[in-house]
Amino acid sequence: MKCPVCQNELKEFDAGTFQIDICQDGCSGMWFDKGELEKCAAHNKPFPDSLLRMKRSPNVLIDRSKARGCPRCPSNQVMNRVEIDPEINFEIDHCDSCGGYWLDIGELQHMREQHEEMAEISSRLKAFEKRVEEQLKDPTKATRVKAFVKNLF
Ligand SMILES: [Zn+2]
Ligand SMILES: [Zn+2]
Repeated sequence: MKCPVCQNELKEFDAGTFQIDICQDGCSGMWFDKGELEKCAAHNKPFPDSLLRMKRSPNVLIDRSKARGCPRCPSNQVMNRVEIDPEINFEIDHCDSCGGYWLDIGELQHMREQHEEMAEISSRLKAFEKRVEEQLKDPTKATRVKAFVKNLF
C-alpha cells in the first residue's frame, strides 16, 4: 500500500493490540483497516509510546487542501475528511468503500499533548461526536466514525 499523502510504501506496525500501516520514512501517517482499532476498545490508552513518539520526516510537507485517495482500495477511492477538533486541526480521512481510516500522526500527538487528562478528553468527546454528526448526514456512517474517534482516546 502506498501512503496517500507522500506515496511512500506503508509499513506494517504491530501496536500490540492492533496492527496498522505506517508511512515510516515519510509523513508518519497511519492507516487503520476497518474494525482494527475497535479490537482494543477495552483499553484506555491503546497507543504505545513508540507510536506516539514517531517523528515526521522534516522534508515532508502535508498538503491538507488535497483530497486523499484510499490506500487500500484498488481504485484509490477518494476519502472523506471529517473535522474533529478545529482548535488543533484534528481531522481524519475515511473511506466509504472499505471502511478504513487515515490519521496524521501529528494530529494524534498534538491531541495527547493538549488533552493530557482523560477526563478532559471525555468531556470533549461529546463535542467531537456532535461535529461528526453535523458533517456526516448518513447516521450509519456517523456512528462508525464516532466509534473510531472514541477509540482513539
Ligand atoms: Zn506519507
Ligand atoms: Zn478504501
